[in-house]
Amino acid sequence: MFLEVKNLSKYYKRSDFWNLKQEVIKAVDDLSFNLNKGEILGVVGESGCGKSTLGRLILRLVEPSGGEVFFKGENLFKLNAQKIKEKRIEMQIVFQDPYTSLNPKMQIGEIILEPLFFHNKIKQNQKESKTRELLEMVGLNKDLSTRYPHELSGGQRQRIGIARALTLCPELIIADEPVSALDVSIQAQIVNLLQDLQEKLNLAYIFIAHDLCIVKHLSQRIMVMYKGKIVELTLSEDLYAHPLHPYTKCLLSAVYDPFSSCEISLKLKENSSDLTLYQGCSFYPRCLEAIDICMFKEPELICAGKEHYTACHLVKEGVK
Ligand code: SF4
Repeated sequence: MFLEVKNLSKYYKRSDFWNLKQEVIKAVDDLSFNLNKGEILGVVGESGCGKSTLGRLILRLVEPSGGEVFFKGENLFKLNAQKIKEKRIEMQIVFQDPYTSLNPKMQIGEIILEPLFFHNKIKQNQKESKTRELLEMVGLNKDLSTRYPHELSGGQRQRIGIARALTLCPELIIADEPVSALDVSIQAQIVNLLQDLQEKLNLAYIFIAHDLCIVKHLSQRIMVMYKGKIVELTLSEDLYAHPLHPYTKCLLSAVYDPFSSCEISLKLKENSSDLTLYQGCSFYPRCLEAIDICMFKEPELICAGKEHYTACHLVKEGVK
């Protein structure tokens, strides 16, 4: 298996101002899934659902509270600092904000070649040709190599972020909301660029977004997260044609009709004060389809049909 995530968790402790009350925040809670070589998995959910933490855990930029991540058969959490540094040559990240993720004091050429110098993989006389090659790969002119990030547009900066991620010829890219900070017209260009690069280089992506529209055309499978858990995971076309989880249905209805009753009810229920007083489904306080058991018992992720997994008491195993 190319990438295998097993029971991955990340918990944070939070205390009140007087340090009298402590609570555990489950940013990522017992996630398991696989990714094939060259596959694009879209990860969708609202802000704070744990999708960015998941990306950072896979790259081991943060240490987990539990679980394992196997990349090409190797457990990343068992590797020492030197080995994980070498492993990251094959796994790269594109960050959300193309402005803050680029060093403002460095020229574009220096930024995109930095990973090669860090890993001693380039000679001085190869600098110019490599810079030109990378800039052309992301649709930019080589003349930009001596510019600074503040001289570029948002779209150009994100192309630089992508070029930097490609510098070491990785096999897996975690794209952490790569288009959220961009204008709508530029978003489509960046998504198309990522798609072209994926086809050309057979890259695998974990494409994180909070908008189902963005991941629709790009992803082969989509994973919907809510409060650190997977609530639905299936093939892209299946998710849009037959969503099973009430949260996925709400996300889809919000995409197509922002004034739908579903979205309005989400807003009303968000202010519920008893959010921490129950042990059941984490979506219970906002769910319009909730039944009695939802308040007391957490639903397990079950297989509802071919490659279609969901965690909801309303869905029975293999019924789809
Ligand atoms: Fe709604 Fe119950 Fe399903 Fe949770 S388990 S999503 S509360 S119906």
